Amino acid sequence: MNSGIAEFMQRVSERNPGQTEFHQAVVEVVESLWPVLEQFPEYRSAKILERIVEPERQLMFRVNWQDDQGEIHVNRGFRIQMNSALGPYKGGLRFHPSVNISILKFLAFEQVFKNSLTTLPMGGGKGGSDFDPKGKSDHEVMRFCQSFMTELSRHIGPNTDVPAGDIGVGGREIGYLFGQYKRLRNAFEGVLTGKGTNWGGSLIRPEATGYGAVYFGQEMLKTRDDSYQGKIVSVSGSGNVAQYATEKCLQLGAKVVTMSDSKGFIHDPDGIDEEKLAWIMKLKNNRRGRIKEYADHYKGASYTETDPRADSNPIWDVPVQVAIPSATQNEINSKDGQNLVKNGCFCVLEGANMPTMPDAVNHFIDNKVLFAPGKAANAGGVAVSGLEMAQNSSRMSWTRDEVDSHLQRIMESIHKACHETAERFECSGNYVNGANIAGFIKVADSMLDQGLV
Ligand code: NDP
Repeated sequence: MNSGIAEFMQRVSERNPGQTEFHQAVVEVVESLWPVLEQFPEYRSAKILERIVEPERQLMFRVNWQDDQGEIHVNRGFRIQMNSALGPYKGGLRFHPSVNISILKFLAFEQVFKNSLTTLPMGGGKGGSDFDPKGKSDHEVMRFCQSFMTELSRHIGPNTDVPAGDIGVGGREIGYLFGQYKRLRNAFEGVLTGKGTNWGGSLIRPEATGYGAVYFGQEMLKTRDDSYQGKIVSVSGSGNVAQYATEKCLQLGAKVVTMSDSKGFIHDPDGIDEEKLAWIMKLKNNRRGRIKEYADHYKGASYTETDPRADSNPIWDVPVQVAIPSATQNEINSKDGQNLVKNGCFCVLEGANMPTMPDAVNHFIDNKVLFAPGKAANAGGVAVSGLEMAQNSSRMSWTRDEVDSHLQRIMESIHKACHETAERFECSGNYVNGANIAGFIKVADSMLDQGLV
């Protein structure tokens, strides 16, 4: 790390003590951007970097709710409104016990660059709560969502801030949140995306992140005259992103052999076909069961429990050519990265946000692995959220094919932007630098245009 970057990061660490995930996300971006800052002094004199790491606004609030037994619980709610240079703040809500300011700031920071890459007019934000929906009844989830939205509704709106889902926030939660917003404001408006298709949601929004990541991979594979046909793929997670990444891989002729949840992973050497995937979707989306049950149901498959304290995760030791980490941040460490490369993996698509730790990213790049960072590879979700906003504003709804072809076109254009930007800044094939620089330049130029605000 050069001394300029070290000094900058020292200031970021001092101003944001203990926020390790946020520091990790910032340093990765700043390392990519340094050559750009040296080439364009106007960004430095306008202190764009210093401004871009400082949220425009961060909200933290108390969320009280009562469980089915009448007991009172107190959670924390958050919304980070990171940057609005390109449009209203846009980014998901995460409900998970691990949620804190550091995780949400890293996600909001990444979101700014990701949204810029989509070509759509969206700023960046992120929010959520340390509430754990797991094991809660539908009534409890509804009461929590209503309480959370009672405060959040003062700070959001279709032209201000438009949240969506993320870990722990799917169609059910978006429904309860939207209902409460509508009641409080007496307004039926496009304030959330990921809505039900009967009441303003876009077709293909549930599929968009997973499909988009696979489309991005297709573009990368094309640069080596290759395709998904016959490839063995490992997917981690079994939630929204993982399910639809798996579905698209199958449609494009690949064989997906793993999926996981926070307790362990299944390995099915015969491949998770469409019927097995439908079974997983029911298990996870309707019954809210554990992935372990898959190995009881399908005899050819094995289940391995994962230990978060172990020095590697055995899911990344399964020999594959393509890996799509789609669960959570920091799920591929240095050893996992080495295992993947050693076993022949040459393409890694980040379905999740920042699932790969920095040493593993470097290992992939050094070994010429086609590595797609999350801010490019998983941008399909927010892109279709942007299309949902456009449909809401025009009071129209587009067909499945229309949305899917927009999504494919957007993923192709993100790939092109990353690829060409990497070439322009003499780091050909480095999609991390390509995504960071391409995303940054548009936001930075817009900040310059809008003056010191
Ligand atoms: P879901 O809640 O639908 O699924 C998350 C999956 O990851 C579940 O299988 C869950 O297991 C597993 N998981 C969660 N936390 C951990 C953990 N600490 N360790 C191991 N496994 C874990 O979330 P999504 O699929 O929506 O999101 C997955 C990732 O994709 C996140 O990083 C998210 O930020 C990112 N993303 C999502 C987008 C979207 O449109 N949904 C858009 C862009 C990025 P379990 O069931 O046991 O909790």
